Amino acid sequence: MTETASDNTTSVKSMDDIMALCKRRGFIYQASEIYGGVNGFWDYGPLGAQLKKNLRDAWWTDVVMKGCNGKLGPDGKPVSIVPLDSSIIQNPKVWEASGHVGGFNDPMVDCRETKSRYRADHILCMGVKGDDSGQIYAFIENDDKSFDGALKKLSKYKKADIAKDGVDICSFTDLGPDEIAITVGPDAKEVGTLTEPRAFNLMFKTVLGATGNAEDNGAYLRPETAQGIFINFKNVVDTTRVSVPFGIAQTGKAFRNEVTPRNFTFRSREFEQMEIEFFCHPDESKAWYTFWRDWRMAWWQELGLEGENLILREHDNDELAHYAKEGAGTADIEYMFPFTAPGYGELEGIADRTNFDLKQHAEHSKTKLDYFDNTRGELAKNGQPKGERYLPHVIEPSAGLDRGVLALLCEAYTPDENRPSGVFMKFHPRIAPIKAAVFPLVKKDGMPEIAEPLYNELRNRFGHLGTIEYDVKQSIGKRYARMDEAGCPFCFTIDSTTLEDQTVTVRHRDTLDQERIAIDKVGDFLAEKLGF
Ligand code: ATP
Repeated sequence: MTETASDNTTSVKSMDDIMALCKRRGFIYQASEIYGGVNGFWDYGPLGAQLKKNLRDAWWTDVVMKGCNGKLGPDGKPVSIVPLDSSIIQNPKVWEASGHVGGFNDPMVDCRETKSRYRADHILCMGVKGDDSGQIYAFIENDDKSFDGALKKLSKYKKADIAKDGVDICSFTDLGPDEIAITVGPDAKEVGTLTEPRAFNLMFKTVLGATGNAEDNGAYLRPETAQGIFINFKNVVDTTRVSVPFGIAQTGKAFRNEVTPRNFTFRSREFEQMEIEFFCHPDESKAWYTFWRDWRMAWWQELGLEGENLILREHDNDELAHYAKEGAGTADIEYMFPFTAPGYGELEGIADRTNFDLKQHAEHSKTKLDYFDNTRGELAKNGQPKGERYLPHVIEPSAGLDRGVLALLCEAYTPDENRPSGVFMKFHPRIAPIKAAVFPLVKKDGMPEIAEPLYNELRNRFGHLGTIEYDVKQSIGKRYARMDEAGCPFCFTIDSTTLEDQTVTVRHRDTLDQERIAIDKVGDFLAEKLGF
């Protein structure tokens, strides 16, 4: 993840404006807002809930139901994927086996003065250029405000004017222990307030049973959906007709007690994942890794995250996760959010997890999880393969649904001073929460009587894809403006001409073009535009 310092000069879109629109139009609200909120949690309003569902459905349909939209795998065969819906709470031993209990720790630093806690890898430090005493460093969190604050504190401490380009910046985690002589917390007034980095477990703990106690009945909310898949690998193999190579996919909530939730929904404590664990023969893992990496990138591009805002970044060896051996591929699909610009933030990770997880669960649960492949092995006398027993390797494309929604919101946000709304949301029609709107120009002259049946017809035909809006209030200009902010791609208006020739006006969101089509062709028109 490269959540870097925000630099609004390079980013045309303002995150504050996007957040304001999300609130104003009912995409996303702060959770528990009337009680002052709760840090790291968000509620999706009517438009946001539908947008999120559309993205989840698109993933589900394209990945699971259509097996990568019919693209053949590297073996030349259709990709086989089955769905799963596992529990959020599992036996705590699952998380011991997966390494989360022992290893799901971010090193943290505490500020003794402000009592704030920061992730060590989010803290940068500065030293005065040419000052080789190695004694003075100011620690900043990675945003411009705290950078300026830290610079001021450092200048005061050194009793000199120190300009931005007069300091060396490096990551806190790159410093040797001897180099940390004096520290300045991002929000502290005094110097020397930060502690050494300490481990902090990110899993939410809970207690099972009304009379349970934390020691004997403790359990965890899952920090990822992946482990629910690994522990059901044997069940799926035993109860369905899948054979390796195949994948298991699931979407669902995951919980991480993030130390510094921020950047809107980007770093939340409760979020939703869309994960695939794809099981293959060890010799084929490289080919499947490349397949998944490239197909996932193309999928996001097809939904409208195109151009330079989306990149595919292969990890360096020193970034590899605990399960990835050297040489096993790991890549991130990253989006340039307004708050990361000119850097990028992770949207989805694609990792070759080797056989790490199945091996861990086999050992900890003392259950055989290896797979008997009767298509492999030496040939027997009858000319048939004798079969081979192995622990499959796993390729994991793991995407964040909330981060996906956020990227789509940021991408769609299009300022346009020529419109009354000043902005419109240019969602791909497949993702748009409102698919179409039906407006009688005025609430009289028989127009509502024509508009209502059309609304009902469209709702019956397209309601499974998203909302069909009906609105008679306010001027038509105001209604169009509302639809622009909601990202509705097509508005159908019933006006006086409709009464004469049974045509309606179609207003196209992106071009503002208006055309007339026959009222009995509206359904087919919309079906074609939505790709159905
Ligand atoms: P980061 O480095 O940003 O903490 P990660 O590498 O730990 O992310 P993974 O464990 O690979 O993330 O999780 C898979 C996906 O889940 C991520 O690509 C991201 O989209 C999403 N995700 C992870 N943590 C969060 C979070 N706190 N809030 C929202 N989405 C998240």
